Amino acid sequence: MERSTGRGVSSNDPVLSSYILGKTLGIGSFGKVKIARHILTGQKVAIKILNRRKIKSMDMEEKVRREMKILKLFMHPHIIRLYEVIETQTDIYVVMEYVANGELFDFIVEKGRLQEDEARCFFQQIISGVEYCHKNMVVHRDLKPENLLLDSKNNVKIADFGLSNLMRDGHFLKTSCGSPNYAAPEVISGKLYAGPEVDVWSCGVILYALLCGTLPFDDENIPNLFKKIKGGIYTLPSHLSAGARDLIPRMLVVDPLKRMTISDIQHHPWFQVHLPRYLAVPPPDSTKQAKKIDEEILQQVAAMGFDRSTVVDALQDRQQNHATVAYYLLLDSRISTFCGYLGDEFLETTESGAARMVLLAPSPVPHNEGMGLQSHFLAERKWALGLQSRAHPREIITEVLKALQELNVCWKKIGHYNWKCRWFPSYQDSSESSDLSFENEIFFGKDDAALMSPNAVKFEVQLYKTREEKYLLDLQRVQGPQQIFLDLCAAFLARLRVL
Ligand code: ADP
Ligand code: MG
Repeated sequence: MERSTGRGVSSNDPVLSSYILGKTLGIGSFGKVKIARHILTGQKVAIKILNRRKIKSMDMEEKVRREMKILKLFMHPHIIRLYEVIETQTDIYVVMEYVANGELFDFIVEKGRLQEDEARCFFQQIISGVEYCHKNMVVHRDLKPENLLLDSKNNVKIADFGLSNLMRDGHFLKTSCGSPNYAAPEVISGKLYAGPEVDVWSCGVILYALLCGTLPFDDENIPNLFKKIKGGIYTLPSHLSAGARDLIPRMLVVDPLKRMTISDIQHHPWFQVHLPRYLAVPPPDSTKQAKKIDEEILQQVAAMGFDRSTVVDALQDRQQNHATVAYYLLLDSRISTFCGYLGDEFLETTESGAARMVLLAPSPVPHNEGMGLQSHFLAERKWALGLQSRAHPREIITEVLKALQELNVCWKKIGHYNWKCRWFPSYQDSSESSDLSFENEIFFGKDDAALMSPNAVKFEVQLYKTREEKYLLDLQRVQGPQQIFLDLCAAFLARLRVL
Protein backbone atom coordinates (compact mmCIF):
# COMPACT_ATOMS: atom_id res chain seq x y z
CA MET A 1 0.00 0.00 0.00
CA GLU A 2 2.89 2.30 0.77
CA ARG A 3 3.65 4.63 -2.08
CA SER A 4 7.29 4.47 -3.01
CA THR A 5 9.60 7.12 -4.23
CA GLY A 6 11.19 4.85 -6.78
CA ARG A 7 14.63 6.16 -7.60
CA GLY A 8 13.45 9.69 -7.36
CA VAL A 9 14.92 12.70 -9.00
CA SER A 10 17.34 14.90 -7.16
CA SER A 11 15.91 18.35 -7.08
CA ASN A 12 17.52 20.82 -9.47
CA ASP A 13 16.48 23.60 -7.23
CA PRO A 14 19.40 24.35 -4.87
CA VAL A 15 16.89 25.50 -2.26
CA LEU A 16 15.58 21.99 -2.13
CA SER A 17 19.00 20.33 -2.16
CA SER A 18 18.33 18.53 1.13
CA TYR A 19 15.63 16.38 -0.44
CA ILE A 20 15.22 13.89 -3.24
CA LEU A 21 11.82 14.48 -4.77
CA GLY A 22 9.66 11.53 -5.73
CA LYS A 23 6.26 11.06 -7.23
CA THR A 24 3.14 13.11 -6.72
CA LEU A 25 0.94 11.96 -3.83
CA GLY A 26 -1.98 14.24 -4.43
CA ILE A 27 -3.04 17.41 -6.10
CA GLY A 28 -4.21 20.14 -3.79
CA SER A 29 -5.95 23.39 -4.46
CA PHE A 30 -2.69 25.35 -4.38
CA GLY A 31 -0.34 22.86 -5.96
CA LYS A 32 1.03 19.35 -5.83
CA VAL A 33 2.00 17.26 -2.85
CA LYS A 34 5.05 15.08 -3.54
CA ILE A 35 6.84 12.40 -1.60
CA ALA A 36 10.53 13.10 -0.93
CA ARG A 37 13.46 11.74 1.03
CA HIS A 38 15.45 13.89 3.42
CA ILE A 39 18.99 13.04 2.38
CA LEU A 40 20.70 13.59 5.74
CA THR A 41 18.42 11.38 7.85
CA GLY A 42 16.87 9.17 5.18
CA GLN A 43 13.38 10.04 6.41
CA LYS A 44 10.48 10.15 3.99
CA VAL A 45 8.57 13.40 3.93
CA ALA A 46 5.70 14.90 1.97
CA ILE A 47 6.34 18.25 0.30
CA LYS A 48 3.45 20.51 -0.57
CA ILE A 49 4.33 22.93 -3.32
CA LEU A 50 2.36 26.15 -3.13
CA ASN A 51 2.36 28.57 -5.99
CA ARG A 52 3.25 32.01 -4.66
CA ARG A 53 1.45 33.86 -7.41
CA LYS A 54 -1.74 32.02 -6.63
CA ILE A 55 -1.43 32.78 -2.94
CA LYS A 56 -0.53 36.39 -3.63
CA SER A 57 -3.49 36.82 -5.93
CA MET A 58 -5.66 35.82 -3.02
CA ASP A 59 -3.86 38.21 -0.72
CA MET A 60 -2.87 35.42 1.60
CA GLU A 61 0.94 35.55 1.60
CA GLU A 62 1.41 37.14 4.99
CA LYS A 63 -1.23 34.93 6.54
CA VAL A 64 0.29 31.78 5.10
CA ARG A 65 3.64 32.71 6.55
CA ARG A 66 2.26 33.49 9.98
CA GLU A 67 0.24 30.33 10.03
CA MET A 68 3.18 28.15 9.01
CA LYS A 69 5.16 29.61 11.87
CA ILE A 70 2.55 28.43 14.34
CA LEU A 71 2.13 25.05 12.72
CA LYS A 72 5.84 24.39 12.78
CA LEU A 73 5.55 24.27 16.57
CA PHE A 74 2.72 21.78 16.58
CA MET A 75 3.64 18.34 17.84
CA HIS A 76 0.79 15.95 18.25
CA PRO A 77 0.49 12.25 17.44
CA HIS A 78 -2.64 12.86 15.36
CA ILE A 79 -1.59 15.96 13.48
CA ILE A 80 0.70 15.93 10.45
CA ARG A 81 4.01 17.46 11.51
CA LEU A 82 5.36 20.41 9.61
CA TYR A 83 9.15 20.37 9.46
CA GLU A 84 10.15 23.32 7.37
CA VAL A 85 8.98 25.89 4.91
CA ILE A 86 11.30 26.73 2.02
CA GLU A 87 10.57 29.76 -0.11
CA THR A 88 11.77 30.36 -3.64
CA GLN A 89 10.92 33.15 -6.06
CA THR A 90 7.97 31.26 -7.42
CA ASP A 91 6.91 28.70 -4.84
CA ILE A 92 6.62 27.86 -1.19
CA TYR A 93 7.63 24.31 -0.27
CA VAL A 94 6.01 22.99 2.86
CA VAL A 95 7.88 19.96 4.18
CA MET A 96 5.63 17.67 6.21
CA GLU A 97 5.49 14.29 7.84
CA TYR A 98 4.67 11.64 5.23
CA VAL A 99 1.97 9.09 5.88
CA ALA A 100 1.47 5.97 3.83
CA ASN A 101 -2.18 4.90 3.94
CA GLY A 102 -3.89 7.76 2.17
CA GLU A 103 -7.11 9.50 3.06
CA LEU A 104 -9.75 8.40 5.57
CA PHE A 105 -12.17 9.28 2.79
CA ASP A 106 -10.95 6.38 0.62
CA PHE A 107 -10.96 4.10 3.64
CA ILE A 108 -14.68 4.79 4.26
CA VAL A 109 -15.53 4.56 0.55
CA GLU A 110 -13.81 1.18 0.39
CA LYS A 111 -15.19 -0.29 3.60
CA GLY A 112 -18.60 1.31 3.83
CA ARG A 113 -19.83 2.08 7.32
CA LEU A 114 -17.42 1.06 10.05
CA GLN A 115 -17.98 -1.01 13.15
CA GLU A 116 -18.70 1.18 16.12
CA ASP A 117 -15.41 0.40 17.86
CA GLU A 118 -13.35 1.18 14.78
CA ALA A 119 -15.26 4.41 14.16
CA ARG A 120 -14.84 5.42 17.79
CA CYS A 121 -11.10 4.81 17.65
CA PHE A 122 -10.76 7.15 14.65
CA PHE A 123 -13.07 9.67 16.26
CA GLN A 124 -11.13 9.73 19.54
CA GLN A 125 -7.92 10.42 17.64
CA ILE A 126 -9.53 13.17 15.57
CA ILE A 127 -10.99 14.87 18.65
CA SER A 128 -7.65 14.76 20.45
CA GLY A 129 -5.93 16.45 17.48
CA VAL A 130 -8.68 19.06 17.22
CA GLU A 131 -8.49 19.73 20.96
CA TYR A 132 -4.76 20.34 20.62
CA CYS A 133 -5.31 22.83 17.79
CA HIS A 134 -7.94 24.72 19.70
CA LYS A 135 -5.75 24.87 22.81
CA ASN A 136 -3.11 26.42 20.58
CA MET A 137 -5.60 28.90 19.12
CA VAL A 138 -5.94 27.33 15.72
CA VAL A 139 -9.28 26.39 14.21
CA HIS A 140 -8.99 23.97 11.31
CA ARG A 141 -12.23 24.89 9.54
CA ASP A 142 -11.91 22.33 6.79
CA LEU A 143 -12.16 19.04 8.65
CA LYS A 144 -13.38 16.29 6.36
CA PRO A 145 -12.24 12.73 5.63
CA GLU A 146 -10.24 13.97 2.61
CA ASN A 147 -8.08 15.96 5.01
CA LEU A 148 -7.69 13.17 7.53
CA LEU A 149 -4.79 10.97 6.47
CA LEU A 150 -3.88 7.53 7.75
CA ASP A 151 -0.42 6.33 8.63
CA SER A 152 0.79 2.79 8.04
CA LYS A 153 -1.00 1.65 11.21
CA ASN A 154 -4.18 3.47 10.27
CA ASN A 155 -3.72 6.13 12.89
CA VAL A 156 -5.41 9.38 11.93
CA LYS A 157 -3.28 12.40 11.07
CA ILE A 158 -5.08 15.67 10.60
CA ALA A 159 -3.70 17.38 7.50
CA ASP A 160 -4.27 20.41 5.34
CA PHE A 161 -3.99 22.92 8.12
CA GLY A 162 -3.53 26.54 7.74
CA LEU A 163 -4.78 27.19 4.29
CA SER A 164 -8.39 26.54 5.05
CA ASN A 165 -7.83 28.12 8.38
CA LEU A 166 -6.62 31.26 6.68
CA MET A 167 -9.60 31.56 4.48
CA ARG A 168 -11.80 34.39 5.45
CA ASP A 169 -15.43 33.53 5.86
CA GLY A 170 -17.38 34.20 2.74
CA HIS A 171 -14.24 33.34 0.83
CA PHE A 172 -14.71 29.84 2.03
CA LEU A 173 -16.99 28.56 -0.67
CA LYS A 174 -15.28 30.33 -3.51
CA THR A 175 -11.86 29.06 -2.58
CA SER A 176 -12.71 25.63 -1.28
CA CYS A 177 -12.76 23.21 -4.14
CA GLY A 178 -14.27 20.57 -1.92
CA SER A 179 -17.92 20.08 -1.15
CA PRO A 180 -19.61 22.10 1.59
CA ASN A 181 -21.14 18.96 3.12
CA TYR A 182 -18.96 19.24 6.23
CA ALA A 183 -19.32 22.99 6.70
CA ALA A 184 -21.24 24.34 9.69
CA PRO A 185 -24.40 26.41 9.07
CA GLU A 186 -22.71 29.60 10.25
CA VAL A 187 -19.85 29.02 7.80
CA ILE A 188 -22.09 28.67 4.76
CA SER A 189 -24.08 31.66 5.95
CA GLY A 190 -20.85 33.67 5.75
CA LYS A 191 -20.90 34.79 9.37
CA LEU A 192 -17.88 36.92 10.16
CA TYR A 193 -16.74 34.92 13.11
CA ALA A 194 -16.31 31.20 13.01
CA GLY A 195 -14.53 29.72 16.01
CA PRO A 196 -13.89 26.25 17.39
CA GLU A 197 -17.60 25.39 17.10
CA VAL A 198 -17.25 25.00 13.34
CA ASP A 199 -14.78 22.16 13.89
CA VAL A 200 -17.22 20.49 16.29
CA TRP A 201 -19.90 20.53 13.58
CA SER A 202 -17.52 19.04 11.01
CA CYS A 203 -16.50 16.35 13.52
CA GLY A 204 -20.20 15.54 13.93
CA VAL A 205 -20.54 15.10 10.16
CA ILE A 206 -17.38 12.97 10.12
CA LEU A 207 -18.65 10.78 12.97
CA TYR A 208 -21.93 10.31 11.10
CA ALA A 209 -20.00 9.39 7.93
CA LEU A 210 -17.85 6.88 9.85
CA LEU A 211 -20.84 5.17 11.47
CA CYS A 212 -23.27 5.34 8.57
CA GLY A 213 -21.07 5.32 5.44
CA THR A 214 -23.16 8.22 4.09
CA LEU A 215 -23.36 11.95 4.68
CA PRO A 216 -26.00 13.48 6.97
CA PHE A 217 -26.48 16.46 4.66
CA ASP A 218 -26.39 15.74 0.97
CA ASP A 219 -28.15 17.02 -2.11
CA GLU A 220 -27.11 17.42 -5.72
CA ASN A 221 -28.75 20.78 -5.70
CA ILE A 222 -26.54 23.19 -3.72
CA PRO A 223 -29.32 25.53 -2.53
CA ASN A 224 -31.18 22.47 -1.22
CA LEU A 225 -28.06 21.24 0.48
CA PHE A 226 -27.65 24.62 2.16
CA LYS A 227 -31.26 24.53 3.31
CA LYS A 228 -30.70 21.14 4.91
CA ILE A 229 -27.52 22.28 6.66
CA LYS A 230 -28.99 25.55 7.90
CA GLY A 231 -32.09 23.77 9.14
CA GLY A 232 -30.11 20.90 10.65
CA ILE A 233 -32.29 18.48 8.69
CA TYR A 234 -30.98 14.91 8.61
CA THR A 235 -32.02 11.44 9.70
CA LEU A 236 -30.29 8.99 11.99
CA PRO A 237 -30.33 5.38 10.78
CA SER A 238 -31.80 2.83 13.16
CA HIS A 239 -28.64 0.71 13.38
CA LEU A 240 -26.87 3.35 15.48
CA SER A 241 -26.32 2.53 19.14
CA ALA A 242 -28.05 4.57 21.82
CA GLY A 243 -24.79 6.34 22.70
CA ALA A 244 -24.08 7.40 19.13
CA ARG A 245 -27.71 8.48 18.67
CA ASP A 246 -27.28 10.73 21.65
CA LEU A 247 -23.89 12.15 20.69
CA ILE A 248 -24.35 13.01 17.00
CA PRO A 249 -27.38 15.30 17.39
CA ARG A 250 -25.60 17.23 20.15
CA MET A 251 -22.77 18.00 17.73
CA LEU A 252 -25.05 18.86 14.82
CA VAL A 253 -26.87 21.68 16.61
CA VAL A 254 -27.46 24.61 14.25
CA ASP A 255 -26.96 27.27 16.92
CA PRO A 256 -23.18 27.34 17.51
CA LEU A 257 -23.70 28.57 21.06
CA LYS A 258 -25.82 25.56 21.95
CA ARG A 259 -23.55 23.07 20.19
CA MET A 260 -21.44 20.69 22.27
CA THR A 261 -17.86 21.76 22.94
CA ILE A 262 -14.82 19.54 22.44
CA SER A 263 -14.66 19.08 26.19
CA ASP A 264 -18.35 18.01 26.28
CA ILE A 265 -17.58 15.43 23.58
CA GLN A 266 -14.67 14.09 25.59
CA HIS A 267 -16.92 13.64 28.61
CA HIS A 268 -19.67 11.90 26.65
CA PRO A 269 -20.07 8.23 27.69
CA TRP A 270 -19.90 7.02 24.08
CA PHE A 271 -16.56 8.77 23.59
CA GLN A 272 -15.13 7.41 26.83
CA VAL A 273 -15.42 3.75 25.83
CA HIS A 274 -11.97 2.15 25.27
CA LEU A 275 -10.38 5.59 25.40
CA PRO A 276 -6.61 5.01 25.29
CA ARG A 277 -4.88 6.53 28.26
CA TYR A 278 -2.60 8.76 26.19
CA LEU A 279 -5.72 10.42 24.77
CA ALA A 280 -7.36 10.73 28.16
CA VAL A 281 -4.78 13.19 29.48
CA PRO A 282 -4.75 16.85 28.40
CA PRO A 283 -2.58 17.61 25.37
CA PRO A 284 0.80 19.19 26.00
CA ASP A 285 1.37 22.86 25.37
CA SER A 286 3.20 23.39 22.06
CA THR A 287 5.55 26.08 23.40
CA LYS A 288 6.59 23.89 26.32
CA GLN A 289 7.11 20.94 23.99
CA ALA A 290 9.44 22.93 21.78
CA LYS A 291 11.68 23.84 24.69
CA LYS A 292 12.57 20.28 25.57
CA ILE A 293 15.69 18.93 23.97
CA ASP A 294 16.36 15.25 23.63
CA GLU A 295 19.97 14.51 24.44
CA GLU A 296 20.17 11.32 22.44
CA ILE A 297 18.83 12.89 19.26
CA LEU A 298 21.06 15.90 19.83
CA GLN A 299 24.06 13.60 19.87
CA GLN A 300 22.96 12.04 16.60
CA VAL A 301 22.65 15.46 15.00
CA ALA A 302 26.06 16.46 16.36
CA ALA A 303 27.48 13.26 14.87
CA MET A 304 26.34 14.50 11.48
CA GLY A 305 28.83 17.32 11.82
CA PHE A 306 26.73 20.08 13.36
CA ASP A 307 28.07 22.07 16.26
CA ARG A 308 26.26 20.93 19.37
CA SER A 309 25.82 24.23 21.15
CA THR A 310 24.75 25.99 17.95
CA VAL A 311 22.08 23.32 17.48
CA VAL A 312 20.88 23.78 21.06
CA ASP A 313 20.64 27.54 20.55
CA ALA A 314 18.79 27.11 17.28
CA LEU A 315 16.32 24.67 18.85
CA GLN A 316 15.70 27.01 21.75
CA ASP A 317 15.21 29.99 19.45
CA ARG A 318 12.96 27.85 17.27
CA GLN A 319 15.08 28.56 14.26
CA GLN A 320 14.70 26.51 11.15
CA ASN A 321 17.96 25.26 9.68
CA HIS A 322 19.44 22.00 8.39
CA ALA A 323 20.34 20.85 11.89
CA THR A 324 16.96 21.55 13.51
CA VAL A 325 15.08 19.90 10.65
CA ALA A 326 17.29 16.81 10.99
CA TYR A 327 16.73 16.87 14.76
CA TYR A 328 12.93 16.84 14.46
CA LEU A 329 12.90 14.22 11.71
CA LEU A 330 14.99 11.90 13.87
CA LEU A 331 12.90 12.65 16.94
CA ASP A 332 9.69 11.77 15.12
CA SER A 333 11.12 8.63 13.60
CA ARG A 334 11.86 7.45 17.11
CA ILE A 335 8.48 8.40 18.50
CA SER A 336 6.70 6.57 15.74
CA THR A 337 8.52 3.35 16.58
CA PHE A 338 6.20 3.05 19.56
CA CYS A 339 2.81 1.57 18.98
CA GLY A 340 -0.05 3.97 19.39
CA TYR A 341 2.42 6.82 19.59
CA LEU A 342 2.92 6.35 23.25
CA GLY A 343 6.47 7.33 22.67
CA ASP A 344 5.21 10.86 22.62
CA GLU A 345 4.07 10.45 26.16
CA PHE A 346 7.37 9.09 27.28
CA LEU A 347 9.09 12.25 26.17
CA GLU A 348 6.70 14.39 28.12
CA THR A 349 6.26 15.12 31.74
CA THR A 350 2.75 16.09 32.60
CA GLU A 351 1.62 19.58 33.57
CA SER A 352 2.01 18.82 37.26
CA GLY A 353 5.74 18.31 36.88
CA ALA A 354 7.76 15.15 36.71
CA ALA A 355 4.82 12.89 37.34
CA ARG A 356 6.13 10.13 35.16
CA MET A 357 8.88 7.77 35.98
CA VAL A 358 10.58 6.76 32.79
CA LEU A 359 12.67 3.71 33.18
CA LEU A 360 15.81 3.71 31.12
CA ALA A 361 17.40 0.47 30.15
CA PRO A 362 19.82 -0.64 27.49
CA SER A 363 17.95 -2.00 24.53
CA PRO A 364 18.80 -5.70 24.51
CA VAL A 365 18.41 -6.16 20.76
CA PRO A 366 19.51 -3.95 17.90
CA HIS A 367 16.78 -2.14 16.08
CA ASN A 368 15.92 -3.38 12.67
CA GLU A 369 13.48 -1.07 11.03
CA GLY A 370 14.02 -2.31 7.50
CA MET A 371 13.51 1.22 6.31
CA GLY A 372 16.66 1.85 4.33
CA LEU A 373 18.66 4.79 5.53
CA GLN A 374 16.52 5.28 8.57
CA SER A 375 17.67 2.05 10.17
CA HIS A 376 21.23 3.24 10.01
CA PHE A 377 20.48 5.91 12.56
CA LEU A 378 18.19 3.83 14.70
CA ALA A 379 20.69 1.02 14.89
CA GLU A 380 23.13 3.34 16.58
CA ARG A 381 20.84 3.82 19.50
CA LYS A 382 22.08 1.96 22.51
CA TRP A 383 19.41 3.15 24.90
CA ALA A 384 15.71 2.96 24.62
CA LEU A 385 12.99 4.68 26.58
CA GLY A 386 11.11 2.42 28.93
CA LEU A 387 11.94 -0.98 30.29
CA GLN A 388 11.89 -3.23 27.27
CA SER A 389 11.53 -6.92 26.91
CA ARG A 390 11.07 -9.47 24.20
CA ALA A 391 9.48 -11.94 26.58
CA HIS A 392 5.88 -13.03 26.15
CA PRO A 393 3.55 -10.42 27.68
CA ARG A 394 2.09 -13.03 30.01
CA GLU A 395 5.54 -13.76 31.42
CA ILE A 396 6.19 -10.07 31.84
CA ILE A 397 2.88 -9.60 33.61
CA THR A 398 3.66 -12.49 35.96
CA GLU A 399 7.01 -10.94 36.85
CA VAL A 400 5.50 -7.50 37.32
CA LEU A 401 2.71 -8.73 39.54
CA LYS A 402 5.13 -10.85 41.59
CA ALA A 403 7.32 -7.81 42.17
CA LEU A 404 4.32 -5.67 43.07
CA GLN A 405 3.10 -8.29 45.48
CA GLU A 406 6.48 -8.58 47.17
CA LEU A 407 6.35 -4.84 47.72
CA ASN A 408 2.84 -5.07 49.09
CA VAL A 409 1.43 -2.91 46.41
CA CYS A 410 -2.35 -3.02 46.03
CA TRP A 411 -3.56 -3.14 42.46
CA LYS A 412 -6.61 -3.21 40.30
CA LYS A 413 -6.59 -4.32 36.71
CA ILE A 414 -8.12 -1.65 34.50
CA GLY A 415 -7.20 -3.01 31.09
CA HIS A 416 -5.51 -6.05 29.60
CA TYR A 417 -2.12 -4.50 30.20
CA ASN A 418 -2.90 -1.76 32.63
CA TRP A 419 -3.12 -1.65 36.42
CA LYS A 420 -4.01 1.03 38.91
CA CYS A 421 -1.81 0.67 41.97
CA ARG A 422 -1.58 2.03 45.49
CA TRP A 423 1.30 1.76 47.89
CA PHE A 424 1.91 2.83 51.42
CA PRO A 425 5.57 2.89 52.45
CA SER A 426 5.21 1.26 55.88
CA TYR A 427 3.57 -1.79 54.35
CA GLN A 428 6.71 -3.86 54.17
CA ASP A 429 7.39 -7.56 54.33
CA SER A 430 3.91 -8.88 54.46
CA SER A 431 3.86 -12.64 54.67
CA GLU A 432 0.43 -12.73 53.12
CA SER A 433 0.47 -14.31 49.76
CA SER A 434 -2.22 -13.95 47.21
CA ASP A 435 -3.58 -15.46 44.09
CA LEU A 436 -1.84 -14.01 41.09
CA SER A 437 -4.58 -14.87 38.64
CA PHE A 438 -4.78 -11.97 36.22
CA GLU A 439 -8.52 -12.09 36.17
CA ASN A 440 -8.69 -11.55 39.91
CA GLU A 441 -8.60 -8.00 40.98
CA ILE A 442 -7.14 -8.21 44.37
CA PHE A 443 -6.23 -6.06 47.31
CA PHE A 444 -7.98 -2.88 46.38
CA GLY A 445 -9.48 -1.08 49.33
CA LYS A 446 -7.78 -3.47 51.78
CA ASP A 447 -6.90 -0.81 54.28
CA ASP A 448 -8.33 2.46 53.16
CA ALA A 449 -7.39 4.29 56.33
CA ALA A 450 -3.68 3.66 55.82
CA LEU A 451 -3.89 4.41 52.12
CA MET A 452 -5.43 7.80 52.73
CA SER A 453 -2.20 8.81 54.47
CA PRO A 454 -0.20 11.64 52.83
CA ASN A 455 2.60 9.17 52.08
CA ALA A 456 0.39 6.87 50.06
CA VAL A 457 1.30 6.75 46.39
CA LYS A 458 -1.10 6.03 43.59
CA PHE A 459 0.39 5.05 40.28
CA GLU A 460 -0.35 3.20 37.09
CA VAL A 461 1.55 0.41 35.44
CA GLN A 462 1.13 -0.15 31.74
CA LEU A 463 2.67 -2.52 29.28
CA TYR A 464 2.95 -1.31 25.70
CA LYS A 465 3.76 -3.21 22.57
CA THR A 466 6.33 -1.57 20.34
CA ARG A 467 6.65 -1.90 16.61
CA GLU A 468 9.43 -4.45 16.86
CA GLU A 469 7.44 -6.99 18.85
CA LYS A 470 9.05 -5.83 22.04
CA TYR A 471 7.19 -4.83 25.15
CA LEU A 472 7.70 -1.71 27.09
CA LEU A 473 6.86 -1.25 30.75
CA ASP A 474 5.89 2.14 32.06
CA LEU A 475 5.09 3.40 35.55
CA GLN A 476 3.28 6.65 36.04
CA ARG A 477 2.63 8.42 39.31
CA VAL A 478 -0.91 9.63 39.70
CA GLN A 479 -0.84 10.94 43.26
CA GLY A 480 1.44 11.06 46.28
CA PRO A 481 4.98 12.27 47.01
CA GLN A 482 7.38 12.08 44.10
CA GLN A 483 10.27 10.90 46.29
CA ILE A 484 8.32 7.98 47.70
CA PHE A 485 7.25 7.03 44.20
CA LEU A 486 10.86 7.05 43.05
CA ASP A 487 11.85 4.89 46.03
CA LEU A 488 9.13 2.48 45.10
CA CYS A 489 10.29 2.39 41.46
CA ALA A 490 13.83 1.61 42.60
CA ALA A 491 12.57 -1.20 44.85
CA PHE A 492 10.36 -2.48 42.06
CA LEU A 493 13.25 -2.51 39.58
CA ALA A 494 15.46 -4.36 42.03
CA ARG A 495 12.82 -7.06 42.46
CA LEU A 496 12.04 -7.45 38.79
CA ARG A 497 13.77 -10.55 37.57
CA VAL A 498 15.52 -10.29 34.23
CA LEU A 499 12.92 -10.38 31.55
P1 ADP B 1 -5.28 20.81 -0.33
O1 ADP B 1 -5.07 21.92 0.60
O2 ADP B 1 -5.09 21.31 -1.68
O3 ADP B 1 -6.54 20.04 -0.14
P2 ADP B 1 -3.92 18.64 0.99
O4 ADP B 1 -2.99 19.07 2.07
O5 ADP B 1 -5.26 18.14 1.43
O6 ADP B 1 -4.08 19.80 -0.08
O7 ADP B 1 -3.17 17.55 0.10
C1 ADP B 1 -3.74 17.03 -1.07
C2 ADP B 1 -3.59 15.50 -1.05
O8 ADP B 1 -2.21 15.12 -1.06
C3 ADP B 1 -4.16 14.86 0.19
O9 ADP B 1 -5.53 14.66 0.13
C4 ADP B 1 -3.36 13.54 0.26
O10 ADP B 1 -3.88 12.59 -0.61
C5 ADP B 1 -1.99 13.98 -0.24
N1 ADP B 1 -1.16 14.36 0.92
C6 ADP B 1 -1.12 15.57 1.50
N2 ADP B 1 -0.28 15.60 2.55
C7 ADP B 1 0.23 14.36 2.64
C8 ADP B 1 1.16 13.73 3.56
N3 ADP B 1 1.70 14.42 4.56
N4 ADP B 1 1.46 12.43 3.38
C9 ADP B 1 0.88 11.74 2.36
N5 ADP B 1 0.00 12.26 1.48
C10 ADP B 1 -0.34 13.55 1.61
MG1 MG C 1 -7.19 18.92 1.27
